[in-house]
Amino acid sequence: MTEIPTTASQTATLTIDVDAIVANHGLIAERVGPGATAAAVVKADAYGLGLARIAGPLWRSGCREYFVARLDEGIVLREWLQEATIHVFDGVTSGTAREFAEYGLIPVVNSLPQIERWQAEARRLGQALPTVIHVDTGMLRLGLDDDEFTTLLDRPDLLNGLDVTIVASHLASADEAVSEQPEHQLRRFALLRKALPMGRASLANSAGVFRHADFHFDLVRPGYALYGGHPQPETGPNPMRPVVTLGAPVLQLRRGERGETVGYGASHRLERPSLLATVAIGYADGFLRSGSGRGAVAIGGHRAPIVGRISMDLITVDVTDLPRGLVTEGTRVEVIGRHRPIDEVAADAGTIGYEILTSLGARYRRHYAGSSLDES
Ligand SMILES: *Cc1c(COP(=O)(O)O)cnc(C)c1O
Repeated sequence: MTEIPTTASQTATLTIDVDAIVANHGLIAERVGPGATAAAVVKADAYGLGLARIAGPLWRSGCREYFVARLDEGIVLREWLQEATIHVFDGVTSGTAREFAEYGLIPVVNSLPQIERWQAEARRLGQALPTVIHVDTGMLRLGLDDDEFTTLLDRPDLLNGLDVTIVASHLASADEAVSEQPEHQLRRFALLRKALPMGRASLANSAGVFRHADFHFDLVRPGYALYGGHPQPETGPNPMRPVVTLGAPVLQLRRGERGETVGYGASHRLERPSLLATVAIGYADGFLRSGSGRGAVAIGGHRAPIVGRISMDLITVDVTDLPRGLVTEGTRVEVIGRHRPIDEVAADAGTIGYEILTSLGARYRRHYAGSSLDES
């Protein structure tokens, strides 16, 4: 177990519990049961948390299949996980086929031109190449559209030389409890799956996993939930183990009188004599400025609201109502953690937890905790 250093520091500390990520993957694998495989979506450097430290523990815990967004992410991951099955969502865009083959990466092909490109590479190499076919079932983002899908059914020769390992689609609103779109997409996916029954079928992201077992098919692709995000924020407590703790020190305490204003733009006026704490975190650390005047931090389990604007390096929190003497210079406040879950921090900033995670800055002291970590 890596200890979190307690040395005094002006720098905010980001702690990433790698055991919790591994446990969350296990929880999802358990949830989908033996009939389906749980892959891990590790795009964008494992949602900003640092794939270099996370890939090994996931692999050793038994996770064999991974998804990234970009070819370059796949190439980096290949260095760490030589045996893993690595899929790339962007697909085989112009000029990338050779690198895909060279690094043993599997493209999620999103169009007929991508299929042709990958097929040409298979011909060149004289071997069948593994392929994921991505079909759009209502997101209008990536994947074969209806016309392309029909063409593919009319011309099965388009897949000659390709080994279709997965037929996939992606849900647009599986996290929205009242939406009917996921069920609509599910029906469309089930239909097209009948028409194209090769390989395994895959539809669910994190939210899809927790929506209903019908969404599981053969392979699920959770990302956000692995990193402690609530897969279905509108429904009850978060089933996932929290992963991220972000603590920042109080730099200074000051008193303000009724009528005085706080911070840039004087956007907050004190309505009473107040005790304010200035904390060393700001938007340069990825603590989004849109949370100005709305968010809060936790100090010893107490809520302290953010007052005034979030600036580049600092925030001001109102500690007037906290127990006397609890907050002094150097006190660590919890910006994200047990009392400040990422989904709440996100809601305060008018965004989603995905953006909070992937915005986490480079100025933190990062600590990776957990017994599943590499020895090095
Ligand atoms: C990012 C992504 C996922 C993972 O989504 P989460 O909501 O983070 O679980 C799955 N599938 C596709 C196609 C994606 O782009």
